[in-house]
Amino acid sequence: MSSQINKTVLVVNCGSSSVKFAIIDPKSGEVFVSGLAEALTLPDARINWAFEGEKKTEENLGAGADHEKAIDFIVNTILAGHDDLLNSLVAVGHRIVSGGDLYSQPTLIDDSVEAGIEKCIPFAPLHNPAHLQGIRAARKIFKNIPHVCIFDTAFHQTMPDYAYRYAIPEEYYTKYHIRKYGAHGTSHAYVSKLACEELNKDPDDFNVITCHLGNGASVSAVKNGKCLDTSMGLTPLDGLVMGTRCGSIDPSVIFFLCKNLNLTAEEVSKILNKESGLMAVSKKTSDFRGITEGLEENDPRCKLAYEMFCYRLAKYIASYYVPLGRVDAIVFTGGIGENSFLMRKRVLEWLAPLGVKFDEARNEQARVFKGGRGVISTPDSSCIVTVIPTNEELMIAQLASNFAK
Ligand code: AMP
Repeated sequence: MSSQINKTVLVVNCGSSSVKFAIIDPKSGEVFVSGLAEALTLPDARINWAFEGEKKTEENLGAGADHEKAIDFIVNTILAGHDDLLNSLVAVGHRIVSGGDLYSQPTLIDDSVEAGIEKCIPFAPLHNPAHLQGIRAARKIFKNIPHVCIFDTAFHQTMPDYAYRYAIPEEYYTKYHIRKYGAHGTSHAYVSKLACEELNKDPDDFNVITCHLGNGASVSAVKNGKCLDTSMGLTPLDGLVMGTRCGSIDPSVIFFLCKNLNLTAEEVSKILNKESGLMAVSKKTSDFRGITEGLEENDPRCKLAYEMFCYRLAKYIASYYVPLGRVDAIVFTGGIGENSFLMRKRVLEWLAPLGVKFDEARNEQARVFKGGRGVISTPDSSCIVTVIPTNEELMIAQLASNFAK
């Protein structure tokens, strides 16, 4: 740990049975402590963390330990005797999956914001209730610093209506708020901003396509820092082929399954969210590393999964030339985007008709230069292609620190 601790932010990301946390200096990006509490509310609730260069685990957090118990453990056990670090906290940043169309900015939490997050539960039924538990627990423990919600959907609120509306009867939009919301907004915001800075571009004249490719994957068209379109929809099921999610399909597939296989809506939802994507096509793995290993072993199903992933992504990128008009840069990020040169190669090959050219050697080395980031396009490419590691926690810390007193 550095001898002097400046202002820090506690970043909290709550799942239904987990709390992921980190204390970060929003200016330098230094991470002082980070960890994950898992199996909360279950008999084997546990927590692991990294602090002062050591990794530790407490296997027994107490049967049924909940989010509050986990945060209490962070403060009173992990950070016991580290008042300097606790006193350096100036804000708590909470990651929230859905803010619906209620929130387009980081928002200071009060009771009405908690109610707003509750209203958005239909759009993130697994995540938003867990976020609320985490918020309530953290607000009890950290009473004197601001708590700030950073919504995954907020960055996409700048989309025009012709991009976010669905061509279905209007009342479904006006009454039930059915529209495209997008996801991964914090990551798209972070890498689009960083790309602009790293490439020395004018933030008021910079058009970029950001590809966040992890277990969940989405692509966005960003003009002058504002999102114009994105591939995820009402929920994170839409768009690209993902680990276990199908991405875009003809909605009639759902009716077919319900009618001919007598499946319920819940059953079809489970199939499309949890049993589809790379996993279904490869019949082997949802993990892109496994897909590329299969590719090298000439496994035909892995080859098909790889081709489907790359083709779908290339089509989305190409389609975003329409809202952007001119594309200055394409950014790859997320576990797959940062690491799989085979994926980038195939996608960029598809984009050759648009004048996109890349350097094979630089593409293969992208992980080893400039701390895992770097330009992989050639100087005569029609746009710059670059690899930038995402850092959603840092972005949350930076946005939350703006609310510090
Ligand atoms: P994320 O959700 O951002 O953590 O990304 C997870 C995805 O990144 C998984 O599909 C991993 O298989 C993939 N990934 C991580 N490292 C590599 C790698 N070296 N090559 C290919 N895919 C990778």
